[in-house]
Amino acid sequence: MSQVHPGVLPAAVREDFPLLLGADAPVYLDNAATTQKPRVVIDAVADYYRTANSNVGRGHHRLAMAATDRYERARATVARFLGARHADEVVFTANTTDSTNLVADVVGRRVVGRGDRVVVSGLEHNSNLLPWRRLCEQVGAELVVAPVDADGRVDLPAFAALMGPRVRLVAAAHVSNVLGTVNPVGEMTAEAHRHGALVLVDGAQAVAHLPVDVTELGADFYCFSGHKVYGPMGVGVLYGRRELLADLPPYRVGGGTVKGVSHHEPVRYVPAPARFEAGTPNVAGAVGLAAGLEYLLDLGMPAVRAHDESLVGAALEAVADLDDVVVVGDPGATPCGIVSLSVRGIHPYDVGGHLDAHGIAVRCGVHCASTFLDSLGLVGTVRLSFAVYNTLAEVDHVRSVLASARPGAWTAEHPTERFL
Ligand code: PMP
Repeated sequence: MSQVHPGVLPAAVREDFPLLLGADAPVYLDNAATTQKPRVVIDAVADYYRTANSNVGRGHHRLAMAATDRYERARATVARFLGARHADEVVFTANTTDSTNLVADVVGRRVVGRGDRVVVSGLEHNSNLLPWRRLCEQVGAELVVAPVDADGRVDLPAFAALMGPRVRLVAAAHVSNVLGTVNPVGEMTAEAHRHGALVLVDGAQAVAHLPVDVTELGADFYCFSGHKVYGPMGVGVLYGRRELLADLPPYRVGGGTVKGVSHHEPVRYVPAPARFEAGTPNVAGAVGLAAGLEYLLDLGMPAVRAHDESLVGAALEAVADLDDVVVVGDPGATPCGIVSLSVRGIHPYDVGGHLDAHGIAVRCGVHCASTFLDSLGLVGTVRLSFAVYNTLAEVDHVRSVLASARPGAWTAEHPTERFL
């Protein structure tokens, strides 16, 4: 779009994102899938490769020290961003999915046994559902699903009623990737802890929208992906409380994880976080991720929140008088940049195709959360997901294109499997 009207953040923010400039730039509203990258992130990655590329934690030459220094500084930035007490509570992973798998494998297999229970919420992304399903199948435990209320949040009293001595682990999203609603993860954590259960919070959709303080939250584990918070793909984070990480065996084993190894004596592993980062890590990714977080901090989380509120509010207002548009859940309550909607009589893929034909990129379908969509009785939704560079003018454009959507190639009977 050539004409830019800001939400709350200055219009100049858009100038920071090369992919969004120029006459053919999309109206990019698929930010919950991945965000575009600001110049500072692209430059940080390029600068790392231009000036400091080397392997980390191993070499003793100057370049290796410089690379290690940048990697560890990135870790410190993540710790500061999350409110972690110590940088060594931050493990770099490949993405959120890698983080949840790590905890399911390493922690789950230790604390969950036959007849125990693992509680997930009814709105989980497959990446925070399947690792727990598999764990339960492997150890003979029961997967219990905490109900979600009509507005799209975990029902706290119902959740509390599920707690008991057999519950060993709770895993829940901070923010729903389908509806943008915020789960009461603080209360859920306190309740789970009262019963001695560990808690993992999936913050993949939270960190770009909410100020997160893991120490205040009290969760045992918190994870997110770099690419959803203006950083590169291929790098993610697992925060784990220091006392917990100190006690855990490694996940994958290999280079970088050992202090002492022989062919037959017991292996001595290095402490966390390196114990969980076997092999050469994604150093440039970590450096880029830290640059993305710094970018967000420079904008200021209060301004980012206000921008979300403005865009989500404008989107809800814009579709309010479109009779056939139904907003799912209650995204206006605590706006996190997502508005999911259905258009009566038109399959979500048709709506998505129509929007795309008008230069608007959205995600349609089940958003890797088909169990949640099934519980809502929907074949999918059309998800508008906003970021710091989106504008009120873009919301207006979406409204007028939505108003002209008509049924097309897809029918409500089409299977969703193709677009999981
Ligand atoms: N959890 C949630 C809530 C998500 O939205 C996503 C990404 N859509 C994931 C987990 C998985 O993230 P990644 O693909 O980066 O591992």
